[in-house]
Amino acid sequence: MSRNQSTGRRAVVTGAAEGIGQAIAVRLAEDGLEVVLADLKPAEETLSLIEAAGGTASAVATDVSSPQSVQGLHDRVQELGGCDVLVNNAGIYPFILFEDLTFEEWRRIFGINVDGAFLTTRAFLPGMKERGWGRVINMSSNAFMNGADPMLAGYVASKGAVIGLTRALASEYGPYGITVNAVAPGLLVTAGTLRAIGGGPEDPAALKWHDMRALQAIRRNGDPSDLVGAISFLASDEASYITAQTLVVDGGLARV
Ligand code: NAD
Repeated sequence: MSRNQSTGRRAVVTGAAEGIGQAIAVRLAEDGLEVVLADLKPAEETLSLIEAAGGTASAVATDVSSPQSVQGLHDRVQELGGCDVLVNNAGIYPFILFEDLTFEEWRRIFGINVDGAFLTTRAFLPGMKERGWGRVINMSSNAFMNGADPMLAGYVASKGAVIGLTRALASEYGPYGITVNAVAPGLLVTAGTLRAIGGGPEDPAALKWHDMRALQAIRRNGDPSDLVGAISFLASDEASYITAQTLVVDGGLARV
């Protein structure tokens, strides 16, 4: 299929205003899907990138951790014709020592990373089931497999929960032409990781970038462009026999 030839399908990408979600949204638009950008933040930049690439998109201000807000997203997407591909990308990863991790912060991490995926998936699966075709792609992390990340207990636990949800839903919805998979990226250069880690991959003081790439088989830091091909494939017809899986995209750090 040539780039931008319409597939007649619509994708909802959460957390699409920047970072990985932005790159996924642009790629799916290039693949010919209409894309709905669901983010707390204004998604103008992503809209412009998609427009420049000849794609079609709209933005719906959404807090994925709020049932009311996700209901609003659902209603808007229904007006457009429904969601065929759901990418649950929105997530947070605050670095906090376990002894400093309050219950409130733990709940906030789960509220976005796990409840968010529950709410959006719960909202859009019935429509996919009705149409007999659907793709759900959840964002986990290789941090769940490698356990090499101190100060991320809440985050790692939440990303394990995302894999559990993925496997359970795959069984329930496989008979309806719906696949449910997860991707588990390694450390990628995004606005969020630059904020969280500080510096950048070439900053000698920001050791995390160096430490991670030293552990990988492919010794460079990745960025969202290293992940979007995997998402594009999982969202496609060619991936119709692949479900319940977690695809690790981390330069060969985690061995699963
Ligand atoms: P980012 O911080 O750069 O972007 C996250 C986006 O999600 C932002 O636009 C933000 O506004 C949005 N968001 C946050 N809370 C939201 C909410 N409640 N409702 C709607 N939108 C919300 O993050 P990123 O680095 O692009 O990471 C995206 C996803 O990938 C996350 O789930 C993260 O855990 C996962 N991940 C990232 C990496 C990495 O190295 N960047 C590695 C593994 C997994």
